[in-house]
Amino acid sequence: SDSHFPVPISPNEIDYSLHYPQLFPSNDQRDRTKKIEFADIGCGFGGLLISLSTLFPEALMIGMELRDKVSEYVKERILALRVANPGQYQNISVVRTNSMKYIPNYFEKAQLSKMFFLFPDPHFKEKNHRRRVISPFLLDEYAYALRVGGIIYTITDVEELGEWMKTCLENHPLFEALTLEELEADPAVELLSSATEEGQKVARNEGRTFQAVYRRVAAAP
Ligand code: SAM
Repeated sequence: SDSHFPVPISPNEIDYSLHYPQLFPSNDQRDRTKKIEFADIGCGFGGLLISLSTLFPEALMIGMELRDKVSEYVKERILALRVANPGQYQNISVVRTNSMKYIPNYFEKAQLSKMFFLFPDPHFKEKNHRRRVISPFLLDEYAYALRVGGIIYTITDVEELGEWMKTCLENHPLFEALTLEELEADPAVELLSSATEEGQKVARNEGRTFQAVYRRVAAAP
């Protein structure tokens, strides 16, 4: 259940020295203008974070994962990479949490520039659609956490879920689709299908994928 992991009362309470010790040796004296910028929601085994880490070495990133053992595995994986590659992988970390409940505890308004939802659980049955990580209600929260110009990346191998995520984003007033040119120019886009463990499994099985990548826009005046 959810009740066994600590949740920060507010984003300000997150101890950066625990997550990124080399970059922030002291939490009390750290530069508070430098904040987590990318979130990988339901990060699974962490493949995306690891690829993003070297692609965007200046950005701080966090994975959110509900399963305790999986989040522990990601933690260990990051520590091992840090040891094997001194100076690298210092900008990524993971928390065990329920992202459907606690996004506002982790991110301030307009803090994030990228949010990733890669191969989320499909919850096929109609009555379980409310448990999907992309929904009109949750998009309001994601729009709050993302800055204007920030990007939300989604991909799935379940066509129906792909349609659902796209429709939710399309109908939301604070998101607009990236153009083809913008998708091609964004180095994060090609990681969606290749960097995560789930993406690699789908690729091995030559499965189709369905992506929706949208930008946070300002509210209409
Ligand atoms: N993104 C990874 C990938 O592409 O390999 C993992 C995909 S896996 C199918 C979905 C993951 O989301 C699982 O690891 C699951 O534990 C996690 N998850 C499901 N609901 C969640 C929630 N409410 N908060 C955080 N993580 C969640």
